[in-house]
Amino acid sequence: MEALQILVIEDHSFQRKVVVHMLQSLGVREVAQASNGKQALEMLDTAQIAAPDIIFCDLEMPEMDGMEFLRHLSRRQPGMSVVIMSGMDNALITSVEKMALSYGLRLLGAVEKPSSLEQVEKLLKLHQVVRRRRARTVAAPVSFTLEEVLQALHQKQFEPYLQPKVSLKSGRVVGAEALARWVHPKHGVIAPHAFIPLLEQSGNMDEFTFLLLGKTATVCRQLHAKGHTISLSVNLSLSSLGDTKLADKITQMVRDAGVDPHHIILEVTESAAMTNVAEALENLARLRMRGFGLSIDDYGTGFSSMQQLTRVPFTELKIDKSFVADSANNHALRVIVESSIDMAHRLNVRSVAEGVEKQEEWDMLKEMSCDVAQGYLIAKPMDCAAFFDFCDQYPLRRTEAFPVVMQGWLTA
Ligand code: C2E
Ligand code: CA
Ligand code: CA
Repeated sequence: MEALQILVIEDHSFQRKVVVHMLQSLGVREVAQASNGKQALEMLDTAQIAAPDIIFCDLEMPEMDGMEFLRHLSRRQPGMSVVIMSGMDNALITSVEKMALSYGLRLLGAVEKPSSLEQVEKLLKLHQVVRRRRARTVAAPVSFTLEEVLQALHQKQFEPYLQPKVSLKSGRVVGAEALARWVHPKHGVIAPHAFIPLLEQSGNMDEFTFLLLGKTATVCRQLHAKGHTISLSVNLSLSSLGDTKLADKITQMVRDAGVDPHHIILEVTESAAMTNVAEALENLARLRMRGFGLSIDDYGTGFSSMQQLTRVPFTELKIDKSFVADSANNHALRVIVESSIDMAHRLNVRSVAEGVEKQEEWDMLKEMSCDVAQGYLIAKPMDCAAFFDFCDQYPLRRTEAFPVVMQGWLTA
């Protein structure tokens, strides 16, 4: 075991000793101990222990419980690796895990009490893997300035990468979502988190959206010309919806590309930042009238929830990947996914599950009568040329044995 420093927070002295002993027997030389969250914070604040590599934290403790401690910890040391120890039921542990991740902590996992040596060893190994991986990614940081991003926008270097959406019932490709990629002349293909926040903050999303929409509409026409009459989805930033001319501009652009608005779906997420609500609703109503599909993106997360259902004339509900992932094995997630699908059906809109990665999730969604699936199980987002091939080959290469995954298809 690499030289690790670990802090164990547990009020029950016998249980604490057990964990400390296990860690020592696994070769961890420096193990500090605290009997509640308050004491642990004092130790960190007064530097009685140098920054630990991992904190093992009990949830039920007097004075300051584990949840409160994790909140304080995240403000002092964001990104700290944490292991939760608890004798509570799975649903509670899962919700604390989510909380820790939302606070920005690096959660290695949870151990039941009494914990076993194997469990603890597994988590320490996981920590090493995470650390090595992080060291590798830090070695090649690629971050860009606003100036570089704007220049790329000017030179139209952003491209839609298409990720297929497949009908769970028929197994056919019914559409694709256009996800922006920066095809950088030197650094290769760059994901949206490296440039979208910069464009949002600097008020340049409109130009970006129109670039992506224009290119996507052109691809849509080409697909139709080849006999693939599917719809393409484009993400719409909320900041664009405040301009009441938006609906006209979008309609114009799509029609100019020779595409009927019925073949374009606009994905929208509601957020706290949504200030011009009236203007946004005016735009969305007009877009719907012109025939565009409207999708509620990231359904179930934060602000994209019930309230939106009653306000936007949407046609599709997209269940966020954070609910879909692991839903086949997690009862609470399963209930959320199932009731979202149910609600979509009652409201007469299409249900789409994103982030489908496993066959068992596909099977579960099919059983729940979800309409459409999107995710790595089917394919990762790919450039337009690859998507043309995908559409040509998908119906031929699917087999009875592998109804979803195309044999031999490289999705990496
Ligand atoms: P999103 O709209 O929720 O898009 C889904 C994200 O999930 C995409 O990430 C996609 O690559 C990823 N994904 C798809 N299938 C799977 C799966 O099976 N497992 C996992 N773990 N992930 C999966 P991506 O492409 O990095 O995009 C991130 C976000 O950036 C998007 O989230 C969207 O909010 C934003 N974005 C991307 N392109 C555009 C764009 O053209 N305009 C705007 N306004 N936002 C965009
Ligand atoms: Ca989306
Ligand atoms: Ca999402």
